[in-house]
Amino acid sequence: MATTEQLYQHYLKHSTICTDTRTITEGCLFFALKGDNFDANTFTEKALDQGAAFAIIDNAKYAINNQCILVADVLTALQDLAKHHRKQLNIPVIGLTGSNGKTTTKELIRAVLAEKFQVFATKGNLNNHIGVPLSILSLQDDVEIAVIEMGANHQKEIEFLCEIAQPTHGLITNVGMAHLDGFGGFEGVKKGKAELFAYLKAHHGFAFINRNNPYLLEMSEVAGLNKVVYYGSEKENSISGKLQHSDPLIEFEWATHHAHYQAKANLTGTYNFENILAAICIGHFFELSPEQINTGLANYFPNNNRSQLSKTEKNTVICDFYNANPSSMSAALNNLKSLSSAHKTAILGDMFELGAESPEQHELIAKLASQSNIETLIFIGKDFYAYKEKYTGHFFNTPAEAAVYLQENPVVANLVLLKGSRGMALEQLLYLL
Ligand code: ATP
Ligand code: MG
Repeated sequence: MATTEQLYQHYLKHSTICTDTRTITEGCLFFALKGDNFDANTFTEKALDQGAAFAIIDNAKYAINNQCILVADVLTALQDLAKHHRKQLNIPVIGLTGSNGKTTTKELIRAVLAEKFQVFATKGNLNNHIGVPLSILSLQDDVEIAVIEMGANHQKEIEFLCEIAQPTHGLITNVGMAHLDGFGGFEGVKKGKAELFAYLKAHHGFAFINRNNPYLLEMSEVAGLNKVVYYGSEKENSISGKLQHSDPLIEFEWATHHAHYQAKANLTGTYNFENILAAICIGHFFELSPEQINTGLANYFPNNNRSQLSKTEKNTVICDFYNANPSSMSAALNNLKSLSSAHKTAILGDMFELGAESPEQHELIAKLASQSNIETLIFIGKDFYAYKEKYTGHFFNTPAEAAVYLQENPVVANLVLLKGSRGMALEQLLYLL
């Protein structure tokens, strides 16, 4: 069995890691991971044929030549290798978690810090027990600062990811009604996310905290954090800010203790303002000038279906169908309510992973939507469908049924919010809008 140190020697020579035979690059290390429906040990030969330098496998049956490196467990080997690599890097790593807004905030931080540093930030949403080690293993010598997104849907997951990423700085965007099932309710979410604060406390790291959020303050107190940098609306914070306009894009003022600045972002949604302030706070902490911070923010254009404003031939669509949970759903609905448009439509898909709280949370959203000024409401999925008789709106069990309705009743000249859990795949309706 190969040790982590032996694997590290291979990694130093072949620094690219691949885990998918469809995206093998010449000379990479192929880690044969297992999924629910596959065992990549079976792809060993294919990976080597396609140019992988070595295959790291945990089933001796597939050790076809001396390019195969046998380990006890491929996933553990990958995680241990990442930990080992991280230990060699003497750079700040900003660990980022939270119920909502991680990816958006991560991209904003990347955009800001890139004005001064060679930054690495998690690619896309690679934020789990595989994504975090892969992110760490993509850190090359030229990187001066890294921003690592960490996602979780159960206790001890953030703690585990912290052991890999070893953050020196950290941010919890917020805590909300997400993954209630796995965390065991809202108190469980707070406990699970606070594992980042506990790690920072134990390793003398800095936390950036939104002082407007009482839950985060409580969690930082429980963790006993003392190296804290605050942002929020009050002037006493290291960075303070005031949202001035968000119709549809965000305009705001932000201030240090010494001066204030005017800025804009290419983002819609009042809830994104706290994500922006977090990025400013981090930029300021790492000594970027206000001009660098504002340029970084202005250069960020979302293209990831998170609060993305798109003009189609027929409508203006807020593409927010990357995911949904009760907190982000109500934030998006409140934002739609506040925007000025003569005609508004909300197309909302079911929210997954809510466990026993699912019926109540779907009802709350159905109620919030039906009591709003949003003219046309379309609910999709069996969880919303249960409230067909109780609230106003059009209810469908599946996106396909909703598509038939939209073909017969086209939505035109509307401001449309399209949002639902990933599994609802609401992007399939976009061509009708
Ligand atoms: P995931 O758990 O999928 O990684 P995430 O935490 O990375 O999600 P984003 O992808 O940045 O979050 O945003 C997802 C959606 O959450 C956004 O499109 C928006 O609807 C909502 N959202 C973003 N920021 C906030 C916020 N600060 N408060 C509430 N909702 C937010
Ligand atoms: Mg994300």
